[in-house]
Amino acid sequence: MQTIDNYSFSGKKAIVRVDFNVPLNKETLEVTDDTRIRGALPTIKKIISDGGSVVLMSHLGRPKEGPEDKFSLKHVIKQLKNHLQGVEVKFADDCIGDNTLELKKSLSGGEVLVLENLRFYKEETQGDENFAAKLAEGVDCYVNDAFGTAHRAHASTTIITKYFTEHDKMFGFLINKELQMMDTALNISRNPFTAIMGGAKVSDKIQVIENLLSRIDNLLIGGGMTYTFIKALGGQIGKSLCEEDKLDLALKILKKARENNVKVYIPTDAVNADNFDAKANTNTSKTDETPDGWMGLDIGSETIAIFTKVINESKTILWNGPMGVFEMDKFAAGTTAVAKALAEVTSEGAFTLIGGGDSVAAINKNHLADKVSYVSTGGGAMLEYMEGKELPGIKAIRG
Ligand code: AMP
Repeated sequence: MQTIDNYSFSGKKAIVRVDFNVPLNKETLEVTDDTRIRGALPTIKKIISDGGSVVLMSHLGRPKEGPEDKFSLKHVIKQLKNHLQGVEVKFADDCIGDNTLELKKSLSGGEVLVLENLRFYKEETQGDENFAAKLAEGVDCYVNDAFGTAHRAHASTTIITKYFTEHDKMFGFLINKELQMMDTALNISRNPFTAIMGGAKVSDKIQVIENLLSRIDNLLIGGGMTYTFIKALGGQIGKSLCEEDKLDLALKILKKARENNVKVYIPTDAVNADNFDAKANTNTSKTDETPDGWMGLDIGSETIAIFTKVINESKTILWNGPMGVFEMDKFAAGTTAVAKALAEVTSEGAFTLIGGGDSVAAINKNHLADKVSYVSTGGGAMLEYMEGKELPGIKAIRG
């Protein structure tokens, strides 16, 4: 497999699939968080410093049908230029077509061309071969550095690789780092290994939980999925979130955990609300004695103490999904406590890997991103990789 470190881009044109799906201010359409742009810089800079030229392609948002100004990648140019002082950054207002091909051909070494949003064409997500072939036109090599879409067999992430030889396709530095961190967590983890799974639904996480059971020592369950387990075990859950059709599955997981000697920690107490609302009335109760008309929206203080202790005693920790409705201050304490405990145990030498949009948002909200070992850029992609699935975008290069 080709690697970006060993490849000389001198005199070559590289098309790079980046993840510039950045948040924009709704009124000014300016980039409000450029983490993803910064993430792509090492790859871009390597190509430029080798003397190559860079064609960047990405999606942005979810355009429904055709071009929409609010999803134009022209909005990222200013930020990109700030990070690439002295580099000529051009923009093509279409990701394919004759004009774009001319722009690609006229690129000189050290220049960057940003293509318009790939998802202005439905062929992108359909994995259309003709569309992928057009993207591949006029360049010499392909670099995939968008981990967040690596689990999709889209034209720019997977199908396009057909048009390059083994020698001329590779991962960028960001994907390399993602894979290295996840492989570290999965294969050379130190024990005790603890997985913390939260978020809304058990159905989204079932596969990854099942795959991890053979590797982990502890499983901490939080968030809305708590109540599917509690109900399955016969508890009173009031009007808490529950997937009635997953009760058997919850019991199956608990059985499988026992067979694998995995200790499962289900929250024992909760902060409840009378409504799903930031201003709701609250009370606390045991999770299996939730009063009628109330719903559990955060883990309680007893559970926080137990979870913190388990985290403190762990050497490898994987966290996906918040412990409660952390977007509302009244129900954020559990998630904040877990984020802080992870930062603390990282400083003592544990390996901590955080992934999934909402746990990443929770880590950022608490300004702890640089205090954990690694924050993955890909929520769905990370979960699928951890589930043991082959990601099409990874397989297309790794083989
Ligand atoms: P997920 O995308 O599955 O990781 O779920 C994240 C969402 O789960 C967040 O928006 C949280 O507000 C929500 N969530 C966390 N805990 C609960 C809970 N106890 N009840 C309902 N929603 C929750």
